[in-house]
Amino acid sequence: MESDLFDNDHELFRASVRGFVDKHVTPNLEKWDAQRLIDREIWLAAGRQGMLGLPVPEEFGGPAETDYRYRVVIQEEIARAGASALQSGFSTNDDIVLNYLLRHADEAQRRRWLPGFVTGETIGAIAMSEPGAGSDLRAITTTAVRDGDGDGDGDDWIINGAKTFITSGILADLVIVFAKTDPDAGSKGFSLLVVEDGTPGFSRGRKLDKVGLHAQDTAELFFDNVRVPANNLLGERGAGFAYLMQSLPLERLGIGIAAQVSAEAVFRWTMDYVRERSAFGKRIGEFQGMGFTLAELRSAIEVSRAYIDRCVRAHNAGTLTAVDAAKAKLWATELQGRVIDAGVQFHGGYGYMMEYPVARAYLDHRIQRIYGGTNEIMKEIIHRDLMKS
Ligand SMILES: Cc1cc2nc3c(=O)[nH]c(=O)nc-3n(C[C@H](O)[C@H](O)[C@H](O)COP(=O)(O)OP(=O)(O)OC[C@H]3O[C@@H](n4cnc5c(N)ncnc54)[C@H](O)[C@@H]3O)c2cc1C
Repeated sequence: MESDLFDNDHELFRASVRGFVDKHVTPNLEKWDAQRLIDREIWLAAGRQGMLGLPVPEEFGGPAETDYRYRVVIQEEIARAGASALQSGFSTNDDIVLNYLLRHADEAQRRRWLPGFVTGETIGAIAMSEPGAGSDLRAITTTAVRDGDGDGDGDDWIINGAKTFITSGILADLVIVFAKTDPDAGSKGFSLLVVEDGTPGFSRGRKLDKVGLHAQDTAELFFDNVRVPANNLLGERGAGFAYLMQSLPLERLGIGIAAQVSAEAVFRWTMDYVRERSAFGKRIGEFQGMGFTLAELRSAIEVSRAYIDRCVRAHNAGTLTAVDAAKAKLWATELQGRVIDAGVQFHGGYGYMMEYPVARAYLDHRIQRIYGGTNEIMKEIIHRDLMKS
């Protein structure tokens, strides 16, 4: 069964996204990997193509397109090119950072920050994880404290701390920082603050050397007495943790979709290969030993797609739960691992050669079970829900 998620308008949009990917993404993959950075130009080009900031309201320059299926089309087309590093950068912008701004920014902040997410002039990052705390975000030590500077516009915030593993950390123009604002207030003691590029005391550390996603500028960020005005607080003071809980489902659905469409792409490349390659006088895909695995994976991919599509529809309807998003992330990323591992195996020695996209997928996909909340944390969420009553 094929997915029945899309209608004609989505397919028209797909044609334009595919043209964009063929022209601007595929020819640059090796260069981006080698320089360990995606050129900023791709963001501007994607902005001109109308691929960024889809849900941004028209008054801030966006198309006000809240049908998430258009984002799925973009994910599918980027996966088709095997450009996982770009996928994670675009997803961080549109599914995470922009989502926080749309949900919690006030009118003045929306006017200030939203237009750049449509044009591609603003690259965003979300800084939650720290060297000592990832899964257990209550254990972060980055602080933000109030400090009047006497300029009459209300008190500033002074941020101190360090973040690590931050996607788009080197390129980011705007970083949403998860910080402790009231150490004695438990889960109500955290807030989200926006730090912009060029703010004194804000610096970037190493571009981290990773197993995969080589083109992605994952980095450390440092905050040394960073002073931001009161109006860089996003939403309510003390609501930061609750905001994370509200926004993580879309982040996890985004990862689940990326995993699903990557599994579909790798399966297609693998089928092309096993139909073409011969051994012992047969096309290798005809060997039953391989055929049973291909049959199992194809079935799993189709069944998984039905669940992912249902989650996308639920997200559009505003009914996607945190538990269902956790299941989508858990299931699809585990499946992606199985499909890519088999894909490499069935390509034989060529599957280990970087000129074959399945090899890049092998390196890139491993993080999917770790970031956005590890798959153990997804199981925790699902387990807790099972034991509720
Ligand atoms: C490439 C990359 C990009 C990233 N991008 C970002 C980003 O943009 N922003 C950001 O804030 N973070 C980002 N991260 C961080 C990522 O979200 C964390 O690495 C992840 O949440 C895990 O946290 P940790 O590394 O501290 O591992 P830990 O929390 O120390 O976990 C270590 C192990 O313990 C297990 N574990 C922990 N708690 C439990 C439990 N209760 N039950 C069972 N097992 C448990 C985990 O599942 C894991 O296997 C990124 C990471 C990478 C590698």
